[in-house]
Amino acid sequence: MTALDETHDTLLHSWVESANAPGADFPLQNLPFGAFHKRGSHEAPRIGVAIGDRVLDVAAALDAACFLKAGLLAQAAAGACRGATLNALLLLGPDAWHALRVALSRLLRVGADSLRPDGPAAARILLPMAELELHLPVEIGDYTDFYASVHHATNIGTMLRPDQPLMPNYKWIPIGYHGRASSVGVSGMPVRRPVGQMAPAAPGSAPTVGPSQRLDYELEVGAIVGQRNALAHPVRIGAAAAHLFGIVLLNDWSARDVQGWEYQPLGPFLSKSFATSISPWVVTQEALAPFRAPAFVRTEGDPAPLTYLADAADQASGNLDLTLEVLIQTQAMAKAHVAPARVSIGNARELYWTFAQMLTHHTMNGCNLRAGDLLGSGTVSGPTPESRGCLMERAWRGTEPVALPGGETRAWLVDGDTLIMRGWCEREGRRIGLGEVRGTVLPALAS
Ligand code: MN
Repeated sequence: MTALDETHDTLLHSWVESANAPGADFPLQNLPFGAFHKRGSHEAPRIGVAIGDRVLDVAAALDAACFLKAGLLAQAAAGACRGATLNALLLLGPDAWHALRVALSRLLRVGADSLRPDGPAAARILLPMAELELHLPVEIGDYTDFYASVHHATNIGTMLRPDQPLMPNYKWIPIGYHGRASSVGVSGMPVRRPVGQMAPAAPGSAPTVGPSQRLDYELEVGAIVGQRNALAHPVRIGAAAAHLFGIVLLNDWSARDVQGWEYQPLGPFLSKSFATSISPWVVTQEALAPFRAPAFVRTEGDPAPLTYLADAADQASGNLDLTLEVLIQTQAMAKAHVAPARVSIGNARELYWTFAQMLTHHTMNGCNLRAGDLLGSGTVSGPTPESRGCLMERAWRGTEPVALPGGETRAWLVDGDTLIMRGWCEREGRRIGLGEVRGTVLPALAS
């Protein structure tokens, strides 16, 4: 796991004042990467780093000689940020990511080493986030979605198969399916209610076709693969964490009625592939280093992870102490200026499988992962009702609708609902945030 260094020092202050505000998602210790362009301009997207309510244009800072005192590796890494996505930076590898992080931290901190730009240069380099449009930070070649929360798997299983909630393979193998990369979009992407084929209303009749009536969200963590592995070269568990670049929030929008009809025997298909939303800022593995948590503590009677999934360091710190929150704002709430209401709050440390275990399992057959690939954790649910990460669990398959301000209830998502997910790590006076991922449900297209 990544060691703590000068960039994690809680005493560091930034000359970007908004970054020092208590509770800020993007303090100097975070430095997440995203892609942006100025709203209203016709410029191509570029790579930036979030700091408080500002974004540092990395390539512009390089051009303005802000990285003059940084080494060649940091300068090469900054140069890789000229493109529209992070993929070029990912290909440079962990040493370059680290060098750039140190250089950015020194540039943005108050102190003797500060290379703070001033005058017209500062305005070109440091942009108000409110004036920017954010894009997908990576070109995602492939997207795989796992099922790493044993609480989620048990809850769903209890609804579908009360006699056998958890399949016998669950505690041995990280379950996943191949998702669809083309429909992954960044926060703010509108989500059109999908049309699909659903189970017959009565036995013996034909299936129905129409807009999903059971539209749901899934609260997930998305991990971005940084280092590739060559075809036929599995990644050993001890090396797996170093293959990951960082994480985002992920909403795996799901049509449960479509899913229920189509999922056997090959798993989810059109019930998932219509839309997946991710947050715009990739929080790096390095930034997350102070917030590692032990792997899930398996109860007595649970099998130990098989050898290829077992690693002492991963067991000690393979999970993340990451608080995750889901909020809904209905159209009526928005019209009445009622703030989004919390639907659930939980923590990613409850995941049964670590991302290192997921990545190692994914490659054990020789499958090659590439820089920019996206791995979803699966719905993050905890042991308590308030920590259930999808509406299917939260409203227990529609039988216990969630109460919202103004007297509305939700069993499933309604057109016009805005769904917001937030995430943050907080520990011993340290705090960094992932920002948010949001999306509003649009009515199905008329057929
Ligand atoms: Mn999912």
